[in-house]
Amino acid sequence: MQTFNYLRPAHLDELCQALQQPHAKIVAGGTDVLPQMHTGRLQPALLVDISRVSELEGIRIHNTQVEIGALTTFAAIQAHPTLRAAAPALTQAAQWVGAPMTRQRATLGGNLANASPAADAVPPLMIYNAEVTLTSAKGSRSLPLAQFLLGPGQTALQRGEFIQSVRFELPAEDLGSAFLKIGPRRGMTIAIVSAAAAVRLSPEGRLEQVRVAVGASAPTVIRCPQTENLLHGQLPSAELWQSAAQQIAVEISPIDDVRASRAYRRRAAGVLAVRALQAALSQAQEAAQARTV
Ligand SMILES: Cc1cc2nc3c(=O)[nH]c(=O)nc-3n(C[C@H](O)[C@H](O)[C@H](O)COP(=O)(O)OP(=O)(O)OC[C@H]3O[C@@H](n4cnc5c(N)ncnc54)[C@H](O)[C@@H]3O)c2cc1C
Repeated sequence: MQTFNYLRPAHLDELCQALQQPHAKIVAGGTDVLPQMHTGRLQPALLVDISRVSELEGIRIHNTQVEIGALTTFAAIQAHPTLRAAAPALTQAAQWVGAPMTRQRATLGGNLANASPAADAVPPLMIYNAEVTLTSAKGSRSLPLAQFLLGPGQTALQRGEFIQSVRFELPAEDLGSAFLKIGPRRGMTIAIVSAAAAVRLSPEGRLEQVRVAVGASAPTVIRCPQTENLLHGQLPSAELWQSAAQQIAVEISPIDDVRASRAYRRRAAGVLAVRALQAALSQAQEAAQARTV
């Protein structure tokens, strides 16, 4: 049986103070922390339970800025009507995190701080160019998500810092976006490969604002800028999608592990990212048609 100290701050200033203590470990929904404590892999001297810090909760939309508090659960993200309409890649990702019980507990902040290359919230947030706000007793700073994630289990969080929120620009109506993942089964599964994509159609039907992010295929989730450049300004065609799938396979650096081989991931990532692009394109086409009606 482990013994540890436990603090449950109620406000941001109390949280900042609690995190000044040596060896403080944050717990939010506990879906990663508690299983690790159960197996003994994690033995914190001080557990700081942030679940009552109300300032970290909720989804706020001011004009075109979305701000999602770190404590927001995937169930809340999945159900949010504005996000479902304008940022469907994120709500689709939320929908596939674990099972309903997990989604009621698992938080966005925990998913990002965990820094798993397979974390489902990351590919959508990458294509929406999200930034994370990090806070400590010294103040707050914002970082692009790609700079926050440094490697498997590694982030830019410094001692005493916590994720306060995630912000991004609410995507325009004509930006289609989608998220897909492959696992051993559809639900309750950690991704073998995941992909999010966004695209807009020009009045001439060419691809614009192409964004592709792939998960579980490199030490962190990555954007694929060469694939994005290859697609930009092109008319969609079967040959173009094939070239995109090949380019994605070049841009990622997957590993062999218990869930899949490197070769499988390379092939699957290309196919999955192209499917996500095609789903995003269908949505962009619907938006373009709605504009002309
Ligand atoms: C059955 C099951 C199924 C799962 N399925 C999926 C899945 O399909 N997809 C997926 O991506 N994940 C999945 N997970 C992993 C997990 O649910 C998510 O990563 C979840 O979002 C973690 O959030 P949490 O609030 O539970 O984090 P916690 O367990 O509380 O914390 C996780 C880590 O983040 C740190 N942390 C938490 N909040 C903050 C903060 N605000 N600032 C700084 N650090 C913080 C903690 O110290 C800890 O290191 C699954 C887990 C389980 C148990």
